[in-house]
Amino acid sequence: GQNLKSILITGGAGFIGSNFIPYFLENYKEYRVVNLDLLTYAGNLKNLESVEGHPRYSFIQGDICDRKLLEKIFAHYNISGVIHFAAESHVDNSIANPGVFIKTNVQGTFNLLDVAYKTWMIKPFHYKEEYIGSRFHHISTDEVYGSLGDTGYFTEETPYAPNSPYSASKAGADMVVRSYFHTYGLDTVITNCSNNYGPNQHAEKLIPTIVRNAVAGEKIPIYGNGKNVRDWIYVLDHIKGVLKVYFEGTTGEVYNIGGDNEFQNIEIAYKICKLLNEIQPLDRGDYLNQITYVQDRAGHDHRYAIDSSKMRNNFNWRAEESFESGLRTTVEWLLNA
Ligand code: NAD
Repeated sequence: GQNLKSILITGGAGFIGSNFIPYFLENYKEYRVVNLDLLTYAGNLKNLESVEGHPRYSFIQGDICDRKLLEKIFAHYNISGVIHFAAESHVDNSIANPGVFIKTNVQGTFNLLDVAYKTWMIKPFHYKEEYIGSRFHHISTDEVYGSLGDTGYFTEETPYAPNSPYSASKAGADMVVRSYFHTYGLDTVITNCSNNYGPNQHAEKLIPTIVRNAVAGEKIPIYGNGKNVRDWIYVLDHIKGVLKVYFEGTTGEVYNIGGDNEFQNIEIAYKICKLLNEIQPLDRGDYLNQITYVQDRAGHDHRYAIDSSKMRNNFNWRAEESFESGLRTTVEWLLNA
């Protein structure tokens, strides 16, 4: 074990992190994974049962806003890389309670950057010579770019225009990451990804909500006219893109990761109802009858869509999972959860 490199994963008990950790342990055997997660309402260790007791895995319950704890973790485990997933992640919660989004997403990201920098950098301001091969990968969202009309795509050059407290807090975090590269030479990379779906996603999000309400015989709530468009990516495709960037990406750069799978929210509801009609048919009727339009989300962005050509051109990466098969896996997981 003494030649293992230690990577710090923050937010590893959440949706994406808990899909990342088992995949990473399985495919990168020269790494120890240290998972720091506060276990807010969104974190669930049940998502990580498959790696409990794994010899190269350690879990620490704690807050990325706790600087002393971060310093201890970096020193104790000799952390030589970070992939930072931890965040408050639900837009609706950010509308009701924005403060914790600013704290965790902006202040927490700053704390991690600053501890990483002070731990890794021997001499500030001479980073090209002194850089010692440690990387800080910040996981972000396409929502920082604001909203699109019916055409066009977000590229890495699209100006930031966040509209919700969630996306504003992620945009703020991205900017602080950027500054740690430009000012201090920290080896940072940022990935901005579109809407993920897959196993372990929290019940509050769109697909889990549709499935849960459908099978409970309740109304399936769809915001506004249901025509808001999101680009959906299977969580494992996102993870594979993150790993390309973590291991092969250029220091200081930003990469957009998308699924090339644009659907209106109402289309997602239709697809899920059709799938449920097949997997778990109702005695009478159709799940579609439960769909109900509800008062639109405040400031609801119309459309997000990602141009992933930088990922394709640099790493030959593309999202591979078809929406049909990814959705089936997700719905089956939700039905058994
Ligand atoms: P999630 O809400 O499922 O998980 C977040 C995790 O972070 C939870 O386990 C939670 O306990 C932990 N956490 C929250 N505050 C913390 C704190 N102060 N200290 C330590 N841990 C804390 O989120 P997710 O969907 O897995 O998203 C992970 C990351 O990916 C986030 O940064 C999010 O902005 C980004 N992202 C998500 C999506 C998506 O569609 N889910 C898309 C693009 C980017």
